[in-house]
Amino acid sequence: MGGSVSRHRMFIDGAFVDSSSGETMEVLNPSTGEVIAEVPRGTADDVERAVSAAKTAWDEWRFKTPKDRMELLLKLADVIEENAEELARLESLNVGKPWWVAADEPGIMVDNLRFFAGAARNLEGKAAAEYVAGYTSMVRREPLGIVAGICPWNYPLFMAVWKMGPALAAGNVQIIKPAEQTPLTMLRFVELAQEVLPPGVLQVVTGDGVPVGDALVRHPAIALVSLTGDTATGKLIAKNAADTVKHVHLELGGKAPMIVLDDADPATVAEAIKIGGFFNSGQDCTASSRILVDERIYDEVVSRTVDAVASLTVGDPGTDDEIGMGPVISAEQQERVLGFLERAVDAKASVLTGGDSVGDRGYFVRPTIVADVQQDAEIVQSEVFGPVVTVQRFTSDEQAVAMANDVRYGLASSVFSENVGRAMKVAAGLDFGCVWINEHLFPLTPEMPHGGFKESGYGKDMSAYSMEEYTRVKHVCVKLS
Ligand code: NAD
Repeated sequence: MGGSVSRHRMFIDGAFVDSSSGETMEVLNPSTGEVIAEVPRGTADDVERAVSAAKTAWDEWRFKTPKDRMELLLKLADVIEENAEELARLESLNVGKPWWVAADEPGIMVDNLRFFAGAARNLEGKAAAEYVAGYTSMVRREPLGIVAGICPWNYPLFMAVWKMGPALAAGNVQIIKPAEQTPLTMLRFVELAQEVLPPGVLQVVTGDGVPVGDALVRHPAIALVSLTGDTATGKLIAKNAADTVKHVHLELGGKAPMIVLDDADPATVAEAIKIGGFFNSGQDCTASSRILVDERIYDEVVSRTVDAVASLTVGDPGTDDEIGMGPVISAEQQERVLGFLERAVDAKASVLTGGDSVGDRGYFVRPTIVADVQQDAEIVQSEVFGPVVTVQRFTSDEQAVAMANDVRYGLASSVFSENVGRAMKVAAGLDFGCVWINEHLFPLTPEMPHGGFKESGYGKDMSAYSMEEYTRVKHVCVKLS
């Protein structure tokens, strides 16, 4: 970028526009702390403009055939595929993602949109039949109308795509609000896609949670709000959406346990933690942030893991394509992560590797492993959302399951064991929306649902289940004359 600041506008009614207030907000490069872009600081009036355009768009879009929706989604997938490198570079710059992380995302997004292009033509319902003599009953599965997608900063375009696929495939029109820190790829995507997007079908309003996100949540014409974000934000949104009895879809925080049984291979586990705990600087709702190890192999697993994690190179992805881990997203997040570590050490935890910041510019935190923690410790119970994992020991499989479940979150988990039957038994006891066996973090595939239990939220992203979130079921009954 060479110090240049790019200026952007948001996308309402098929046009790029400024905020109604004329105000802008700065977007930073987290590897350097430098301002790289300015985007409009949206207002409640901007949301109103977008909703008005969405209403007009929906009058037509709702009567499009599944084939028409499929064609739009296929074109959107092509836009990402054709501009994959540019979008990945921009995401790497704005989020501080290592190149190998950012470069992988476009292909996954393309696959996701193509899956939903197919899903648009495969909605299912009960067969039409004469359940009461003299009447035929049938089910219409319909779009909800105008839906809003509120996105986080850890996978900015990726999470927006997860919302876009099922929303548009089901026949809704959508307004996306990117996170304030990371609006650039979503804005660039709609710019690249503007020729194929009918005005008002997919719009982007940039700005802060309040007023932009809040106005979307409270707007009576919006039928559903989908949030990927913090659990505290999800609770607030659920309360605020209640006034308009809106559908709410919440993909919230996580505190994923990785359970390592005594017959697991320590070398495999160490490599899995290096990825599972530190991918995207640990800013992943499914990150393996709690490692629970059978006491019989604890020492070996921990010593191998410390070596593997300490070998991660930390640096600026803008100057080195080979780095293992970039910065965290902001000064605020860096301070937050270091605050968790300080309090853990005050409570007698031991830092086995890492534990501090790196360099004097950008927002880097060294990959960190923390041991000697109690189950009720803050660092075990709360989502840190940074490159930090804790290690704990257990004495039986039953105790491992109890410790794993003893948090308020329930998004993802994993079990490592050479004995699949034993691992399956553990999996059955886990209160998490996803259990990987002998793997953590991957694979994610659009055929399978992603979503949490407990305070990790409700509703599913990806898969046919997400289509249900974005549709309503209407019973139509015909009297046979
Ligand atoms: P955040 O909750 O701070 O922000 C998420 C979005 O909500 C942003 O766009 C923000 O502007 C908006 N927002 C904030 N206050 C609002 C309000 N009052 N009304 C409406 N919108 C509001 O989350 P974040 O820090 O951007 O993202 C990190 C969090 O996201 C972590 O907790 C992580 O676990 C979670 N996450 C969950 C998943 C999942 O699938 N479950 C995936 C990725 C991230």
